[in-house]
Amino acid sequence: MDLRDHLLIQLSTRDVYDALILGDRPHSGLVFTGQAAHEAVRMVRRRGYTAPVLCDRRRYAGSGRVRGTAGLSAHWIADQVEARVTVPLTDSGYIGRGDTEALHTILDQASQWGEVVAVLPVHADWLGPGLPALTTAIATYGLPVALVVEDAAPPPVRIPGLPLLSAGVAALGALAHGAPWAAVGVREVLRHLYPEPHQARGGWRKGGARSALVPELLEFVPVERLPEGVCGCSVCHGRPLRHLAGAGELEVNTHNVTVLHRLHARMLRSTHRERWWAELQPASSASTGPRPAPYGPAPRPRTPASPPGSADGSGTRPAAR
Ligand SMILES: [Zn+2]
Repeated sequence: MDLRDHLLIQLSTRDVYDALILGDRPHSGLVFTGQAAHEAVRMVRRRGYTAPVLCDRRRYAGSGRVRGTAGLSAHWIADQVEARVTVPLTDSGYIGRGDTEALHTILDQASQWGEVVAVLPVHADWLGPGLPALTTAIATYGLPVALVVEDAAPPPVRIPGLPLLSAGVAALGALAHGAPWAAVGVREVLRHLYPEPHQARGGWRKGGARSALVPELLEFVPVERLPEGVCGCSVCHGRPLRHLAGAGELEVNTHNVTVLHRLHARMLRSTHRERWWAELQPASSASTGPRPAPYGPAPRPRTPASPPGSADGSGTRPAAR
């Protein structure tokens, strides 16, 4: 099954009963998260779900996360194949700043299997000074990979046009810049990879609270702090966005995926995706407070016919944190 141009919705296994609603869009699909993710895949397949489904074990996250040098599990791959995932993902550990050993361990082990995607959960420096080493390693092994990018302040300005897991609105930006697929989390904790040890004070905010996507800001905002304005999506029907403060989690999430896929459909129809993404950005983020940079990718060296400006201009924005 082809994942190209797919915007996937990343959920917990406890969301399995909502999954068919949240993943029911053209060019959509699901990513189940955690150790029992393949069980959730089995359930949705039994219910006749035919769109792409992936499993992200997420051993790289949380206070008990493992380092990328930990061995990858063949059982984990086999469980996914048996559950009929679209393509199995490795259960990679975390790749810290400059941890070349972890990066190469994951790529080396994954390359010994057939059809797998090597998950690369990286410290944000790998998209800054470490980017040449990262892209060289990926090209050397020639494997399909998927990135998970750890939160940083300021956030990375560029990412390569590679698949993204556990992303926010940046997933759309990655798709606009050539990533074959990307996954948006249904709640904050699945839209981020928080640094560890997690600091409760300051800018990091763990999941739990419901957040709604505000189309004009291209940003998820806690429902208690939604701005004025109405939403014309098929969930809100022109009601004020703030009505979501009194809505259940499924309704908020359905609004989110509806807005995301409306944007995604517009992207698929656009003749120049990078320009579409650049023009979508709010004119100024100064009045809206801190927001994640909807970062674009690094220039793709193997794209000889890039339109003017696509390498350095439209593909990047300054960090806006
Ligand atoms: Zn809405």
